Amino acid sequence: MPEEITTLLTFFGGTGDLAKRKLYPSTYNLFKKGFLQEHFAIVGASRQEMSNDEFRQMVLASLDGFIDDQANAEEFISHFYYIKQDITDKASYAEMLDLDNELDAKYGLKGNRIFYMSVAPRFFGTIAKYLKSEGLITENGEYNRLMIEKPFGSSYKTAEELQKELTEAFDDDQIYRIDHYLGKEMVQNIAPLRFGNPLIDAAWNKDYIENVQVTLSEVLGVEERAGYYDTAGALRDMIQNHTMQIIGWLAMEKPTDFSDKAVRAAKNTAFNALKIYSNDEVAENFVRGQYGESADGSQRKYLDEPDVPAGSQNNTFVAGKLQFDTPRWEGVPFYIRSGKRLAAKATRVDIVFKKSANIFGQGGEKLVNPVLSILIDPVGRVELTVNAKNVTDTFQTRPIELDWQVSEADKAVTPEPYERMIHDCMDGNGSNFADWNGVAVAWKFVDAIQDAWDKTPATFPNYVSGSMGPKESDELLAKDGNEWVFKG
Ligand code: NAD
Repeated sequence: MPEEITTLLTFFGGTGDLAKRKLYPSTYNLFKKGFLQEHFAIVGASRQEMSNDEFRQMVLASLDGFIDDQANAEEFISHFYYIKQDITDKASYAEMLDLDNELDAKYGLKGNRIFYMSVAPRFFGTIAKYLKSEGLITENGEYNRLMIEKPFGSSYKTAEELQKELTEAFDDDQIYRIDHYLGKEMVQNIAPLRFGNPLIDAAWNKDYIENVQVTLSEVLGVEERAGYYDTAGALRDMIQNHTMQIIGWLAMEKPTDFSDKAVRAAKNTAFNALKIYSNDEVAENFVRGQYGESADGSQRKYLDEPDVPAGSQNNTFVAGKLQFDTPRWEGVPFYIRSGKRLAAKATRVDIVFKKSANIFGQGGEKLVNPVLSILIDPVGRVELTVNAKNVTDTFQTRPIELDWQVSEADKAVTPEPYERMIHDCMDGNGSNFADWNGVAVAWKFVDAIQDAWDKTPATFPNYVSGSMGPKESDELLAKDGNEWVFKG
């Protein structure tokens, strides 16, 4: 049995979609694995009227497919308590405090508290304020932590306001900003692949790397989400958060150890050296797109999707070049792209290494840039393309691929990102959460791009649904003599 975690976990938005689909099954897995045993209680808070019993039945139903022992599931849900609350009503927090104190005594929770805000972002600041003012943050606990869902602001200004509201109640190191990409198995594999192998670690710099590519491509269109998506676009929906957080693991310096403090410091050295573009530089280094119909006309263009405003200038595709002004990365472009209605669903990193000088004469004409590809979704896979000998009568090289793929057995035991994130927060490990400095830099970077785009209307649509985006995306790399490794 692992060491038991003692905690009182409160889910604001306890009847919501995320809680039912992800948070309860994840917490149940922690119980099944023995991280949660006896000294824990879970409070769900929401607007609906509901008894503890009804709430427990709702939680039980959400565990469908995860239960292999009914008695064990019944034991788990007996630790759940419900409180009807209007988040904006200060008085409701007094009632919550009474419940928390009662549960603390009943289960011996040592004042340890985690507050998970699984609600609309407009409530984040209010919850933090009342948790503090109404005394729910304990003085005697080993810890009080706040888990916060995305999005963290919609610009640098709004993010900074939110950060200010949160830090009036919690210290920055008590705040766990969720980016579920950081909970993905293969994103967490970047650090050991890089720092666990001196031959890779030693080559992780401008002397050996030609360029770095990060692709987050989706096949689906906007579906029913236009209300939100039309105000965010690919830039805010995918680049500011997930893409930048993956970039953090790639561009970071080598941390002194693997503690969250050291990891964050190493990432921030890179983030703080990210070049923020002027309007002219945005035009040179960034490309936007909006999808049109598919070639066979079976898929409609973005502008014809439900709830998309007429003439929308929203970006459904972004490609760009990032530059880090550090000795490690001088002159090395980091290319990123993300979009909807692309040719393939993929989240992947391609590290393009420099090409060898050809000592083989004609036999070396097929030498290629070695590439290390880390495939994150939909399959977990590592591919290393290197040069080797071809089987021919006269000497000739050819590229070969060395690869490894996450096995079905590994997949079966891989924790869901939400399970990992809740577990990490319980352990007080912030390595796989977005820290404020990284979030702030990402917003400043993205705001500069949005600002330039707001000033110059684009001609949309400019890419065919089912392609890999507008031709300008390929041209962006071609200008530097490079090309996308992943072609869809
Ligand atoms: P949801 O609309 O399904 O649930 C919202 C919850 O908030 C409900 O329990 C509701 O009762 C409660 N609530 C609303 N107003 C309230 C009030 N005034 N007082 C008390 N409770 C109130 O939302 P969701 O999909 O579960 O999303 C929650 C958060 O998670 C959002 O920030 C969202 O951006 C984020 N998120 C959701 C998903 C997902 O897959 N659903 C994925 C990533 C992030």
